[in-house]
Amino acid sequence: MLTDYHVHLRPDAPDTTAERFFTAANARLYRETARERGIAELGVSEHIYRFHQALEVWDHDLWRGAAVDDLDAYCAFVREATDLRLGIEADFVPGREDRMAELLAARDWDYVVGAVHFLGDHSLDHPDYDIWSTGQTPDEVWTQYFQWLGEAARTGLFDILAHPDLVKHWGEDRPRPQGDLRRFYALAMDGIAESGVAVELSTAGLRKPIGELYPATGFLEMVLEAGNPISLSSDAHTAQDLGHGYAQALALLEGLGVRELAVFEGRRRRLEPIG
Ligand SMILES: [Zn+2]
Ligand SMILES: [Zn+2]
Repeated sequence: MLTDYHVHLRPDAPDTTAERFFTAANARLYRETARERGIAELGVSEHIYRFHQALEVWDHDLWRGAAVDDLDAYCAFVREATDLRLGIEADFVPGREDRMAELLAARDWDYVVGAVHFLGDHSLDHPDYDIWSTGQTPDEVWTQYFQWLGEAARTGLFDILAHPDLVKHWGEDRPRPQGDLRRFYALAMDGIAESGVAVELSTAGLRKPIGELYPATGFLEMVLEAGNPISLSSDAHTAQDLGHGYAQALALLEGLGVRELAVFEGRRRRLEPIG
């Protein structure tokens, strides 16, 4: 069984209102497109920062500008007007774990996708708040990123750890550390192993400057050695991108001996054969 769980019903551009994209017709288009591509398990995980309740957790400038929708209206829409699994993409915001826990616990998710998009106020993948404008060295940025990723896992707030080496997002467009990158991956592995969190194989990186799967094969090997399950997603922001690059992702999983994927319902996890 194939999954696509880390999915957005709308692009991140400014004029993408809930009224336009959170519709039964759009959900049907996603479902039909997924079915054509052999994806049986389909869910949505909108960015938490686009809902006004997220400002109770963190009031970053990007969030203040984007937090216009109502989280409960989104949940009600997915439950009542679609047959999709209900998820959310929530950020790891150090020091705000209690507030995020409270926000998450109040809704009946099928799963919560956890992501590290920011290190402090600076973003790993948004050009307006670029971490690479701070003057930190690649080793400093990569060290902090993977430390935070491990801490994110350890919070227990998340069912799935999203795009686990997002720090490479810009590829050749930004500085990169030299040598074997596993010395950075290792910084996240204790937290990942102890939490038991499912780790995402995301094809989104194929559509980004880096042009690679998230995470790198070396990272995935360490996750499998730790015994964590794998979650497969495209991070699509349009129906067209559902299952994008899955042939490449599935070939990698097969090569690594992965035969099962994590499947979620009501925040309970089981493993299903890829088939
Ligand atoms: Zn993300
Ligand atoms: Zn996403």
